[in-house]
Amino acid sequence: MTEHVDVLIVGAGLSGIGAACHLTQRRPGSSFLILEAREASGGTWDLFRYPGIRSDSDMFTLGYRFRPWTEEKSIADGPAILRYVRETAQEFGVDQRIRYGLEVVRAEWSSEDATWTVDAVRTENGETVRFTCGFLWSCSGYYRYDEGYTPDFKGAERFAGELVHPQHWPEDLDYAGKRVVVIGSGATAVTLVPAMAADAEHVTMLQRSPTYIVSLPGVDNLARKLREHLPHQAAYAVTRWKNVLVSTGIYQLSRRRPDFMRALIRKGTLRQLPEGYDVDTHFKPSYDPWDQRLCLVPDGDLFRAIRGGNVDVVTDHVEELTEGGIRLASGAELEADVVVTATGLNLLAFGGMDLVVDDVKVDLPETMAYKGMMLSGVPNFAYVVGYTNASWTLKADLVSEYVCRLLERMDRRGERVCVPVKDPDVGEEPFLDFASGYVQRSIDAFPKQGATAPWRLRMNYLRDVVALRHGSLDDGVMTFR
Ligand SMILES: Cc1cc2nc3c(=O)[nH]c(=O)nc-3n(C[C@H](O)[C@H](O)[C@H](O)COP(=O)(O)OP(=O)(O)OC[C@H]3O[C@@H](n4cnc5c(N)ncnc54)[C@H](O)[C@@H]3O)c2cc1C
Repeated sequence: MTEHVDVLIVGAGLSGIGAACHLTQRRPGSSFLILEAREASGGTWDLFRYPGIRSDSDMFTLGYRFRPWTEEKSIADGPAILRYVRETAQEFGVDQRIRYGLEVVRAEWSSEDATWTVDAVRTENGETVRFTCGFLWSCSGYYRYDEGYTPDFKGAERFAGELVHPQHWPEDLDYAGKRVVVIGSGATAVTLVPAMAADAEHVTMLQRSPTYIVSLPGVDNLARKLREHLPHQAAYAVTRWKNVLVSTGIYQLSRRRPDFMRALIRKGTLRQLPEGYDVDTHFKPSYDPWDQRLCLVPDGDLFRAIRGGNVDVVTDHVEELTEGGIRLASGAELEADVVVTATGLNLLAFGGMDLVVDDVKVDLPETMAYKGMMLSGVPNFAYVVGYTNASWTLKADLVSEYVCRLLERMDRRGERVCVPVKDPDVGEEPFLDFASGYVQRSIDAFPKQGATAPWRLRMNYLRDVVALRHGSLDDGVMTFR
């Protein structure tokens, strides 16, 4: 027997659980299931186990709009985020709708039946399990779960110490009293360095080039005060909007007045580093703020660790790994017992599943992203890809609201199919306009975005609120049958 549901969600991470909660609230009569490849929910927040794992955006915007974040910390640690996601799933009863250990590999749309047929592989025995649904919703994140990205380092096999990727952190890794080198300068590296410095003898952050690093209070004082006077939901809404406006303002200022932002960030960095520190070499990126993701550190913990004396930053290139550490392009050598390759992720669209529409395989780069949440020519299909310049959940919640509106309208009018139709005159652009290495490595395998609305992927929550929460569903691009 093939099981049929109205909506099939792929992935039980923050987005999939959020999507399911929206469905239970807005469409209590409709049936849905979540298929999850792993044996646990929470996605990113369950997978990553490295020391210090935490958010790098504030929890008042990384939390769901419909469920207040009530903990003290604004920049929260991984286990607290995982708890929040799982408690949300329990509170809304969607934990009962998750089927674990099922990796979706293929989804085939039939226009004749207005139905998706979805094949999932049971990870424990390779058996294929088939489902059908009216609407398919990919909440599968944006990167490969099986393998993080590690460049091919010459001599890696010779290194006698431990070589570790943060995505696959060995539970029993003992680095107390040892010399650690963390390769990278992104969010993961700046999280790991102060966390490991607490126990390690010495930690070196080895970066090819500097990143903008901005210190933020770990606890939001406004939120704390508001909670004393207002109900949780109201206090949460105010803090959330405050953070949306502040982060949007910082982003816009970075794009419009990059020199001003550079100077401001530099001033903040200088204030937190020891006198005479070589800021120009280690903390002066060659690009403008927000050409790549800005790294947030709570209460300046990275700078505090540098001041503490057992952390340093080296800006150089890895020539090769040696038996005892790393030889650098400059000729210098770094001795290490543990090398952590915080070198990033491998991007993956829609959990790697093949999409087929009426017997024709969908070639993703040939499709165009509609409102950053559907694909041209792919009926009854939505996906969640969050913002790169703000919290993921801001977009995830808006996508959920839009999908619910779409389904409500189709129910009301007896329509069974919705599909955005591409306009050949709209110019194509890469899906993400982001200079970061992990984006550039794989962006060719992703759909395109368009030069104009509604094909343009706006990294702007305020505009998306207007377009997705309040905008008309009939925009001349979305077609209904
Ligand atoms: C270390 C780290 C820190 C981050 N910090 C932040 C932050 O502070 N702020 C922020 O906004 N964003 C952050 N992000 C981005 C982060 O991934 C999102 O915030 C959010 O967790 C994404 O949730 P998701 O449910 O969309 O995807 P994920 O968390 O990746 O979950 C996807 C789920 O789908 C499942 N899945 C995938 N493919 C399939 C398939 N084919 N079949 C079945 N199941 C499948 C996966 O197993 C997983 O459980 C961070 C990312 C990382 C890696």
